[in-house]
Amino acid sequence: MLLAIDFDGTLCEQDTVDWFSAHWAPGVFAEADRRLLAGEIDLDTCLQLQVAPITQSEDEVVAFLVETIRVRPGAHELVAFCAERGIEPVIVSSGFENLMRPILAANGLDLPISAHAVDCGPAGMRVRFRGRAHCDLCGTACKRDEVRALAAGRRIAYVGDGISDLCAAEDADLRFARHTLARHLAAEGLPFTPFEDMHDVRRGLAAALDGAA
Ligand SMILES: [Mg+2]
Ligand SMILES: [Zn+2]
Repeated sequence: MLLAIDFDGTLCEQDTVDWFSAHWAPGVFAEADRRLLAGEIDLDTCLQLQVAPITQSEDEVVAFLVETIRVRPGAHELVAFCAERGIEPVIVSSGFENLMRPILAANGLDLPISAHAVDCGPAGMRVRFRGRAHCDLCGTACKRDEVRALAAGRRIAYVGDGISDLCAAEDADLRFARHTLARHLAAEGLPFTPFEDMHDVRRGLAAALDGAA
């Protein structure tokens, strides 16, 4: 089984990109968010707009994130459980791999990451998109095909919190959801397990695996 875990708002309590964008460029952040919600721009455009004015060095951004971002409790236990049960955990995110890696390391975690990257510098941040395929089902470059490719025929468990998780979560065999994703799955009548922390995800996986055995 593949366990695909969203990073922002899921593994971590905060959305890291929203967090540092709102911190250093609050006006641009709010305006891009408004345009995204109004349907004027897509998620990738919003992401690039929100980070463009930020001129801090990568070291400064990482130091701020490591200091302030909280990983949800139970992450270590979940990773250990996956190792015991032959489940491959992977972070699938629309954030930045080079900023997530130090947050994981600071919390004693080492997980594979499938995400974008960002270049920092005095001219502002520039996103290096990882080039997800356009999805005909949802009309965006979503995580569905990416997760399916990573699963390579194995069953998929998906853990997420937001609208960008919906398409991939719909496609999963097991769903763990909170916040916006939970509301959307409920509205679509798709079963999911709610979670507050990674202990809930571990218990849910155990129940599903042992129930199926
Ligand atoms: Mg999220
Ligand atoms: Zn999609």
